[in-house]
Amino acid sequence: MNEAKIESLVRELLLEIGEDPEREGLVRTPQRVAAAWRFLTQGYRVDPVKLINNAIFTQPTKSMVIVKNIELYSLCEHHLLPFYGRCHIGYIPDGRVFGVSKLARLVDMYARRLQLQERLTEQISQEVMGSIGAVGVGVMIEARHLCMMMRGVEKQNSVMVTSSVLGTFRESVATREEFLALIGTRHVE
Ligand SMILES: [Zn+2]
Repeated sequence: MNEAKIESLVRELLLEIGEDPEREGLVRTPQRVAAAWRFLTQGYRVDPVKLINNAIFTQPTKSMVIVKNIELYSLCEHHLLPFYGRCHIGYIPDGRVFGVSKLARLVDMYARRLQLQERLTEQISQEVMGSIGAVGVGVMIEARHLCMMMRGVEKQNSVMVTSSVLGTFRESVATREEFLALIGTRHVE
């Protein structure tokens, strides 16, 4: 990522919207924005294999594991505006489980890119499924989108809910219902 180039693009953006990039409050804005974008898009520069490898543990259990209420902040690829909410992950292991904090890191890795909520949900479920060879995975994301809240339809109270189920979570209604029951209802206010 070339931060100097991003700084000059931000300066141009400020000019185009009718601002004065030289006024006191804006002088250092291009640098701040470039640094913010480096952080907000760092998911492109993370190697998932490295991220996950040292956090998988052998555990002979076939019971459902649930990690809920993982905070999530991402950017919608249509407007470059934030969407934020909670991610809930459930899986049935087949001999290997995740360290809890790694699931949160995994969510961050995919969230810190330009995203669609639907795709983000699927990427997380596929990564969990593939990296530990789970029997089944369910991921649900509840999020508010600033592109809906601040502009256009201005639906300030809508929460978008997406889910992705794989393996036994897809095949078995009972497993899916257990997952949904353990997550509970509505975590994003
Ligand atoms: Zn959007």
